[in-house]
Formats: sequence, C-alpha cells, structure tokens
Amino acid sequence: MTTVDLPLLPLGKGTDLNTERGVECPGDLPAPSDPDLVARAKVAKEALGGSVFILGHHYQRDEVIAFADVTGDSFKLARDAAARPEAEYIVFCGVHFMAESADVLTNDNQRVVLPDLAAGCSMADMARLGQVEDAWDALADAGVQDQVVPITYMNSSADIKAFCGRFGGAVCTSSNADVALEWAFAQKPDAKVFFFPDQHLGRNTAVLKMGISLDECVVWNPFLPNGGLTAEELHAAKMILWKGHCSVHGKFSPDVVDELREADPDINILVHPECKHEVVTRADLVGSTEFIIKTIDEAPSGSSWAIGTELNLVQRLANAHPDKKIAFLDRTVCFCSTMNRIDLPHLVWTLESLVAGHEVNVIDVDDETEKFAHIALQRMLDLPGRAARD
Ligand code: SF4
Repeated sequence: MTTVDLPLLPLGKGTDLNTERGVECPGDLPAPSDPDLVARAKVAKEALGGSVFILGHHYQRDEVIAFADVTGDSFKLARDAAARPEAEYIVFCGVHFMAESADVLTNDNQRVVLPDLAAGCSMADMARLGQVEDAWDALADAGVQDQVVPITYMNSSADIKAFCGRFGGAVCTSSNADVALEWAFAQKPDAKVFFFPDQHLGRNTAVLKMGISLDECVVWNPFLPNGGLTAEELHAAKMILWKGHCSVHGKFSPDVVDELREADPDINILVHPECKHEVVTRADLVGSTEFIIKTIDEAPSGSSWAIGTELNLVQRLANAHPDKKIAFLDRTVCFCSTMNRIDLPHLVWTLESLVAGHEVNVIDVDDETEKFAHIALQRMLDLPGRAARD
C-alpha cells in the first residue's frame, strides 16, 4: 500500500500545497476587530466592478455571504461561475475542492481565488489519489475491477474526479446521486459502484433510493490491507463505499431525533443525506442544501422543524423564517470549521490584493487533471432528468 503522509499542521500554519490543507496567507491580514472591514470590503468590491464575481456557499458566515453575488451549493456555484466568463476573478467563498471544480468549469483566462488556502474539507481529505489507486489495483487482484464504475461525490479533490473520469466514471451531487448510480449500474453487466468519499451519501442513496440491501454495501477502509474486505465480499457487493464521512453531518445522532420527537410530536426532521443511515432513516425528509432551503421556504407558518445540516445555514433559515419553529438537530454547536476559515478579514485581504494588482491564492488545477476531471463532471451534466439541476 502507498504510505499516506498526512502530518498534522497547526491550524493555518505550515505549507502542504499538495493536500486540501493550506498555508498561511502572505501579507498582512486585517484584524478581525477592525471596525472598517465592511466599508473596506465594499470599497474594494466596487473598485473591482465586473472583473470580480464572488460566490458564497450556503455554509459560509453571514459576514461573508453579505458580499456574495450569488449563493448556492458547490455545484450550483461552479455553474454560476462558468456562466460569468466576463469575470476575470472568481472569488470562491467556500472550500478548496469547490474552487478546484470552479477552475475546471471556467475558462482558462479566469482566475479562481480561495480567500484562505487553509479552507479545506476533511471529507475530501479522506480519499487521496494514492489510496484510491492502490484500491483500484486491489480490485483487479480480487477479479472485480472490470465490473466496477467509480463515482465520486462533488466533495472530493480534483484528482479523484479525474480518476473517475479516466476510468469510465462520473461525479455526482447530493441531489442527483441516484441518477448517477442508475447510470453507473447501466454501464456494465453486473456492475458495481465504487463510491468516493462519503460512505453515508453512497449508502443512503443505494439503500433508500435504489433498493439495494445494506448487505450488498461494503465499506473499503484505505488503512487496512485490501480495504479490509475479502475477494468473496467484493464479488458479492453492489456498492463499495469508501470509508469517508463529513465531520459535520456525521455528528448528528438518532438519539436526538428521538428526543425531539418525544418533546414535540409535530416536529419535522429534515436532514442532509451526508448524515448517518440511522439518522436518515428516522427523518421525515432528506435532501441537499438546496432542497432543505426550498422545503423551509415553502413550509407553512407555525410549522416545527429540526434541521440536520451545517449550523450557519440553519441559523440563517431560522432568522429568515421567524414565523416557523426551526431548531438545530444537535446538542452542540456544529459549524464546519474549514468553511468558517473564510471570514471578513480574509475576504478584505483578497479583494484589496486584487485591487492592488496582486493575484493571491489562485487555485489552478493542472491540465492533465483538469482534462479528466472535466470528463467526469461532463458525464454528470449529461445525465438525464434531475442531473441538470442541483
Ligand atoms: S460541511 Fe462537511 S463536506 Fe462540507 S466542507 Fe465541511 S467537512 Fe467538507
């Protein structure tokens, strides 16, 4: 097996450009306590005019969302960026893999900028190319590789997307994972899907939407020889799930769902499919962030909800709908720590640097990776039905 070298870096310190973890920002960041930050951000954004397009992921802080030209989830934002070819700079207020996808989908003359390179994603970091290539070889040794179609969730690094593009697979989002799985199972006789990096989205989609049994889902642990699976288990499996998860959505527990239902029998439990299977099976509604927002927007006044997704979004929904009872589906605070690394000081630093003519934190996917990642993304865009929307 490939040795996996992931030395711990103190938060925001050190250099490791080959991973989702980042580096210190060069130059001086404004202090978070600077009372002029909002005014400075406005001035810099106005100075840049149409040359800059700011994307804000739904999980970003309010102080950042206030300056976003558009908000959305990762796929919608990448498409929004691609639809603005006149913008020289795409400032992506999100995490590293999202900026990579935007770079893949935008023109070569556009620069995608991530305000803090330390804004990675722990889930994306759980599937590294060397590990995935080792697993692919092991599937050949087990005699199943010819049947396997690799599918990766949008929340993965560009090189994992490229791996899927290179080996006949595709990308999916949380709202079209079932369409992508249907497509994958139709690609080969007796097809199996190797699903990266979120085991929960893969399992929830396979079992709850495709009718695949839990027994037909096996988990590939990259830290065990042969993923911890026997050749017999691989032959019997329909879904081979990479052992990855979201640090935020993985925290929600079925106990809290039960407690909330006991306290309020009318409560509606609304969760993201990155939550564990035992949480999703107890929920009333399951869907992507766009689905969660739409559901709450359309919910009747006075209705009661507990939402299992990132806290910035839940808080924003609660603020926008004071006529509805909206609770967070966890006892403890559950922000996405890497998303929260993008803050107003980093945004101001980014915009002011661009005004001064300094390109900073440009995310530039290499040509070979971009070519195959684009193939995997394009296969998703070509999927029928809901694939065209997020
Ligand atoms: S919410 Fe989860 S999947 Fe999204 S960026 Fe944070 S760790 Fe990654």
